[in-house]
Amino acid sequence: MPPRVKEILEKDFWRKEDIARLLASDEDEIIFEKAAAVKSAHVGNKVYFRGLIEYSNRCAKNCFYCGIRSGNDKYTRYELTDEETLTAARFAWENRYASIVIQSGERSDAAFTEIIEYLIRKILEATGNELHITLSLGEQSEETYRRWLNAGAHRYLLRIEVSNPALYKKLHPDDGLHTHATRLEALAALRRAGYQVGTGVMIGLPFQTFDDLADDLIFFRDFDIDMAGMGPYIEHPDTPLYRFRDKIPSPDERVRLSLKMVALLRIMMKDINIAATTALQTLDPLGREKALRVGANVLMPNLTPEKYRSDYLLYENKPYVHDDAGACGADLESRILSIGNRIAYGEWGDSLHFRERLNQVVSI
Ligand code: SF4
Repeated sequence: MPPRVKEILEKDFWRKEDIARLLASDEDEIIFEKAAAVKSAHVGNKVYFRGLIEYSNRCAKNCFYCGIRSGNDKYTRYELTDEETLTAARFAWENRYASIVIQSGERSDAAFTEIIEYLIRKILEATGNELHITLSLGEQSEETYRRWLNAGAHRYLLRIEVSNPALYKKLHPDDGLHTHATRLEALAALRRAGYQVGTGVMIGLPFQTFDDLADDLIFFRDFDIDMAGMGPYIEHPDTPLYRFRDKIPSPDERVRLSLKMVALLRIMMKDINIAATTALQTLDPLGREKALRVGANVLMPNLTPEKYRSDYLLYENKPYVHDDAGACGADLESRILSIGNRIAYGEWGDSLHFRERLNQVVSI
């Protein structure tokens, strides 16, 4: 007889079959309870804000699931001006968010590399070096990663999207620009460069199995990530993957699976930072609160100027497209308080896992 959920939860180390069994089980509440206890014991009830600046929707890539893929001509392409970027960063600083995330479609040309380096320096100068900066700008050379780190960036988020190379292939064009091996190498380069490294996956994709999701969690553990951002896959009508929408779980099932992934990751990696993603709220109005309850500890209020937001739709029905930054932050605050968590204003909220690894290196 396969082990019961309770027995698996008591083990110190999970094998792939344990994780797949937990994902397939319908005993969600036991899993969520355990994850909530682990969160409380290891990272507490603080929620860290990362003000999200969607710098540009220009992208050289053409991923089959993404609304801003280069092949989609329905969006007006934009990039924020320097002043708009600095204003958004100043808003975060003045409202004591302590950290921002600069996210963009992927470009690796010299002009892009330079402007990002320039903006990192300007933001730090304008905010008295008090903001911590996370970058989410895709695959770059190790030299570029180091350049941006030297300019003052602290963390980097590069989602693997799926750890199964065969599934990765199904989700990306076969044009040499989108390879699983390159993505892995980019993550390794980020680690070598010295960033706090975050990654993540989409949950509920067509063709994805429980075994795939179990492998995703094992990938996070083996790579020893510092941060994670995972959310449900949400179909976008202007993408090639949309034609497989009858092969994906229902929205409720995708939310449930995403919450389980968050909970299981919290149990497996007790001191990392885990984001409650906006995609969860898209499918469930209370999705992010639920994620905070079962293990997440990071939220990303959107600081992108409102006029650009409807051109940065990676998926359909994204929330806060028409709210200003203040309204978005205030709404999140009341949601966080409603579940007994509190916002850690003015705290960087670095990954404790990263700090611990640094301490180990120093003491060797
Ligand atoms: S997922 Fe990222 S790299 Fe792929 S098309 Fe969208 S923005 Fe570009």
